[in-house]
Amino acid sequence: MGHDPGMRPVVVAANWKMHTTPDDAGELARTIARRTGEPSVVRVICAPFVCLAAVRDALVDTDPPVAVGAQNIHHEMQGAFTGEISALMLTGLATWVIVGHSERRRDAGETDRLVGRKLGRAVEAGLRPILCVGELLEDRDAGRAEAVVESQVRGALAGLDPGALEAAGLVVAYEPVWAIGTGRTARGADAAAMAEAIRASAASAGWPHAAGGLPILYGGSVTASNIAEFLAEPAVDGALVGGASLKPDEMAGIVARAALTAQARADPARTS
Ligand code: PEP
Repeated sequence: MGHDPGMRPVVVAANWKMHTTPDDAGELARTIARRTGEPSVVRVICAPFVCLAAVRDALVDTDPPVAVGAQNIHHEMQGAFTGEISALMLTGLATWVIVGHSERRRDAGETDRLVGRKLGRAVEAGLRPILCVGELLEDRDAGRAEAVVESQVRGALAGLDPGALEAAGLVVAYEPVWAIGTGRTARGADAAAMAEAIRASAASAGWPHAAGGLPILYGGSVTASNIAEFLAEPAVDGALVGGASLKPDEMAGIVARAALTAQARADPARTS
């Protein structure tokens, strides 16, 4: 499964987490866009809510374009939910959104069911979702990493229309929790095995297209120095980058390496 990466985009998504302000976000976005201008790579910057307008304005004339994403949405479209932000409210501000990031599962108690509802709202609002899944270290040590991630995928996709998810361009980020922000990374071969397991569980959840067509990113302490190990795996279609995404030099290196993979996929006579 997943044997035809040529049909999948190569994506590098920045997750700025709770960094930047409306005053400095636009400048950082512009610098990253200028340093990563590779037309073959889909680039996304997921900024804090309050920085989305600044990032959108900074990137409006960027060619090739850089998409703007949010890092979370509420599971309802509107209502009495003080302090929350819905998918609908992102209209005109963002075109992508991260759902189910492990920091939210950990800090906000997000369950697979809740993440699935968020996924549904994203699709309804026309946002392109990045669904994050990944096991804890204790899960990996106990040999149940695949089972945990498969259950996260099935739980999040349950009840959603596979056709709508496909049309929305769902992307999944495999992010082992023990690798996020720790400087530790998975091995490329492990990330590839997990990517195939994710595609298989999405396919068995009623989405046959996922077997070959679902883009899967690796996330967890990705830098310009280690991205090659992941992109050498045909099952891996790019990266969700946290800490290093605030550093233009790192982003330049990551996207330059991703461009080699994208070009090799477009022209298999080249090697990635
Ligand atoms: C992330 O925020 O999704 C992430 C993978 O963070 P980091 O790259 O800092 O590990």
